[in-house]
Amino acid sequence: MNLPRKIIIGNWKLNDTVAEGTVLLHKIHQELKGFSTATIIVCPPATHLYPLHRELTSLKSEPKIELGAQNISDFESGAHTGEVSAIMVRDLAKYSIIGHSERRTHYGETDDQITRKVAIALEHGLQPILCVGENLQQRHDGKAHQVVLDQLNTDLADVTAAELKKVIIAYEPIWAIGTGTFAKPAEIEDMLRLIRNALVQSFGQLASTESRIVYGGSVDAENAKTILNLQGCDGVLVGGASLKPKEFATIVRATDK
Ligand code: PEP
Repeated sequence: MNLPRKIIIGNWKLNDTVAEGTVLLHKIHQELKGFSTATIIVCPPATHLYPLHRELTSLKSEPKIELGAQNISDFESGAHTGEVSAIMVRDLAKYSIIGHSERRTHYGETDDQITRKVAIALEHGLQPILCVGENLQQRHDGKAHQVVLDQLNTDLADVTAAELKKVIIAYEPIWAIGTGTFAKPAEIEDMLRLIRNALVQSFGQLASTESRIVYGGSVDAENAKTILNLQGCDGVLVGGASLKPKEFATIVRATDK
């Protein structure tokens, strides 16, 4: 039986012009020349999706790099100035990050909005990369499990068992994002197990076995192999290090057994 490929997701956040992003994409492709055994997804700013989609169409050799948006609107269309909808993104990208902690914290995004975004993404053929995770206070208060379970319960409320396999869940403890401190291996394994068990409870054994759960939070070239080899870890979501082509390539290559 073929093992499912590990997933490496780069979140470029609010960085790089279109010209710089194009160079970055080519550098990543060049660094990983011929590499074909991981699913590689980069999530640039929305303005970059169209030009990068065109660039990728012209790159015929391995590695295959796929695109994700960093966010979509919780509406399909209408009077929502500044928003970008799933319908606009779906021709350019296969995935969208949804519910990143920066959106929850800085932009007040609620779990109800995230529920709608997940449903809209699936309805229009985009695969959600759903981010969940606790903050430091919640972990210190012993509430980390409950926070993540509550987020999952709400955010996946409108997802069917058949749709679940299209959802990538990213466990991202907020205290580990952009801090240089990644969660301890035992903490990561514990949360990945908790999430998998919650999916089994809500969606049944088969559906949950097929869904993919990744870790995010200060993943870098040094710690990638350790994290990728953890029990239940299907991949990583990488922020800062995804802007450095050599380092991002090292993380992708760490998926090799
Ligand atoms: C992120 O943006 O989701 C992230 C995990 O960032 P970093 O890798 O920089 O911690």
